[in-house]
Amino acid sequence: MAKVRNWQLGREMEYRFAEAHPDRQLAFVFNTNRCIACQTCTMSCKSTWTFSEGQEQMWWNNVETKPYGGYPHNWDVRVLELLEAANPGGQVWDAAARGGPYGVFRGMTVFEAAAKQGGKDVALGYAPTDAEWSAPNIGEDTAVGPPGRPGAYDERGAQLPQHTPWFFYLQRVCNHCSYPACLAACPRNAIYKRKEDGIVLIDQARCRGYRKCVEACPYKKSMFRLTTRTSEKCVGCYPRVEGRDPLSDGVPMEARCMATCVGKIRLQGLVKVAADGTWAADRTHPLYFLVHVEKVALPLYPQLGTEPNGYYIPPRWVPRPYLEQMFGPGVGEAIERYRRPSRELLAVLQLFRTTQRMIFRYDIVEGPKVLETTVGGRPWTMYADTVVGFDERGREAVRVPVVEPFRERPARYPNSI
Ligand code: SF4
Ligand code: SF4
Ligand code: SF4
Repeated sequence: MAKVRNWQLGREMEYRFAEAHPDRQLAFVFNTNRCIACQTCTMSCKSTWTFSEGQEQMWWNNVETKPYGGYPHNWDVRVLELLEAANPGGQVWDAAARGGPYGVFRGMTVFEAAAKQGGKDVALGYAPTDAEWSAPNIGEDTAVGPPGRPGAYDERGAQLPQHTPWFFYLQRVCNHCSYPACLAACPRNAIYKRKEDGIVLIDQARCRGYRKCVEACPYKKSMFRLTTRTSEKCVGCYPRVEGRDPLSDGVPMEARCMATCVGKIRLQGLVKVAADGTWAADRTHPLYFLVHVEKVALPLYPQLGTEPNGYYIPPRWVPRPYLEQMFGPGVGEAIERYRRPSRELLAVLQLFRTTQRMIFRYDIVEGPKVLETTVGGRPWTMYADTVVGFDERGREAVRVPVVEPFRERPARYPNSI
């Protein structure tokens, strides 16, 4: 095992291979507050990549309802329980410690827990059963009930800031991790991470279907195909990222699941990676701004140790301890910033799903003040700014106003469009 730096954990950790970082990394931010669970993303991935025989249980993109939903069923609870058993009471964050943006994780990653158990496996994991792979949308729209009465309807209703009965939608694709457990666990070295964009792929010619990647990926995003006897996973829609889609005009495009999102909750891009594996400072890249400047988007289960490159704006209404387990100690600050957004954040949030071209830089054209109010008892002001997004070649890709235009139909056409 080599020692590598995991910036999300604020410390070094053990990994099978020495550090080797890509020049750019495919990354994305999902705003859980806006998802409507329409599954358009899910079906656009399936109709593009996994519609063939043997891929019936392959949902590279899925949207599950938390806390009861999960694909495969209970994947996160199972992994958290394995880690807790390996390190009882020790899976904790020290949020006040200096190390990374979320403090320092003092517990064990899936790699460290496996090493503690004798190193038979590279990463602590498990193989889901066929039954667990068989119901991709189990638990949809099922809220937590009153305490001690599972399945019962909670008559207390929903009230902000945190709901008593609650659920939320968690959108999931492969995280194209910086330290992929799937890659580390493959005895055939059939999995590789591309230098040009950090996309993690399985070489189908090398794969022998040992399913070590399926066991090791803590997010369960590597999937076995019975007809070919090989494992497959999300390919990051790499032809689009490479700018080879006929519609792309030669510049990187967002993936299919990103580009079709009806709720406009997704923003995907390529970020520059520094020699030490951290994101190189790029102040006006929308993803860099959301993750590193505003810190409103957080990694999913960073404590697992793979350094996932998917980030989530946490849902406002969900009890904080649940969210802190899922997204780490940055949850409180992220929700506060989302609830009462800065002028710049409000503008950047308008860029989600407005163009298929990846945005590499944004600019804000300032407009007049349009609202003075209070949010959470503190003053808040809104401006009619316009945000402009630029593609890889620096060309304007999109221009979106913060305040949507208001048009009133003339009285003669009250019902016409
Ligand atoms: S999410 Fe899983 S399958 Fe995807 S790169 Fe990470 S470890 Fe591999
Ligand atoms: S990035 Fe492409 S391959 Fe991956 S889940 Fe989305 S649509 Fe599917
Ligand atoms: S398309 Fe967007 S809004 Fe619909 S389920 Fe997927 S992530 Fe959610």
